[in-house]
Amino acid sequence: MMVSPEIYNRVSEKSIKGRYVVHGQIVKFLKSVRGDFKVATVGKSVEERSIVSIKMGNGSKRILMWSQMHGNESTTTKAVLDLVNFLASGIAPNQKILEECTICILPILNPDGAERYTRQNAKLVDLNRDAQTRSQPESEVLRKVYEEFDPHFCFNLHDQRTIFNVGTTPMPATLSFLAPAHDEQRSISKTRGISMQLIVAINKMLQKIIPGQIGRYDDAFNINCVGDTFQSLKIPTVLVEAGHFQNDYQREETRAYVFQALYAALFTIASDRIDNFDYEDYFVIPENEKRFFDILIKRVDIVKATLKSPSDMGLRYAEVLDKKHIAFVPEIDEIGNLAANYGHKVFNCLDDVDLERLKKEAYWHLITS
Ligand SMILES: [Zn+2]
Repeated sequence: MMVSPEIYNRVSEKSIKGRYVVHGQIVKFLKSVRGDFKVATVGKSVEERSIVSIKMGNGSKRILMWSQMHGNESTTTKAVLDLVNFLASGIAPNQKILEECTICILPILNPDGAERYTRQNAKLVDLNRDAQTRSQPESEVLRKVYEEFDPHFCFNLHDQRTIFNVGTTPMPATLSFLAPAHDEQRSISKTRGISMQLIVAINKMLQKIIPGQIGRYDDAFNINCVGDTFQSLKIPTVLVEAGHFQNDYQREETRAYVFQALYAALFTIASDRIDNFDYEDYFVIPENEKRFFDILIKRVDIVKATLKSPSDMGLRYAEVLDKKHIAFVPEIDEIGNLAANYGHKVFNCLDDVDLERLKKEAYWHLITS
């Protein structure tokens, strides 16, 4: 149930890389899509940018996926482009998927937010809190596609920040999943159980390639979220959160794992294997915690004179749009006893080698000032 790295390298979309992904960049890709895959403009954003869908396959199982509803969450967009190429490639299991399923993908639901590199749309609305009101054209587009396409399964595709670790372990949550709740009690209906079974199927495969790096997202109910809304309409919905992989701030590794996750889900659906998986195994996946800093400096009081007691410092990168690429700008987030935290990069000022390394960093002045 996994695509080999060789095949993935062959099908991955080479024209789109990094964190800044906008509609204009995928136009060429959309024009090159295989003839029997249907590309259509399904609506416009606040600023009149096109929102497009790609429809593939002729099967009776209808699967709807949308990505980049938050404009600065582009990793899953890259992964769905890879998925389109893979399904177009004619490699063995694809024919079965295209015969059994009809797949509709909206690669960039929030093209204005993508352009600005913001979570919100041009009117500063979080589209994932607009599922009931639908005050924004982008929310109406998703709802219209949902009603017309009438899916049996939905995939709501996002990025999560680098702060998330798996359970209490020092592993980053490279991918997190959620079977959204459909009521305050977070009860497990048949619909929600199916979402859980799909996540269990995906998790089983992912544990083989990134063991210990898969988390479960908090399931607090909020009917204004799209996943919770669709789940309450009895359509099994899976929320995918693409997160941090070691040293992969461009999220090119994570992109490949998202691709594998989506493929595992499609394969499971197409081959009628959902009931091979026990929904209760969903709860075996550890919940996410927020213990990571991008940079953790232990005993920073040794170099920062204003601190009188033993202290650590946690820094997080602000992601700043600088022309057409994203700069990672370190900012101090917390100072204190951070013994329970982890860092993607760690320095201990008690260690001379670490201290010398730290002094060479461009943000050294930020720490000492
Ligand atoms: Zn998001």
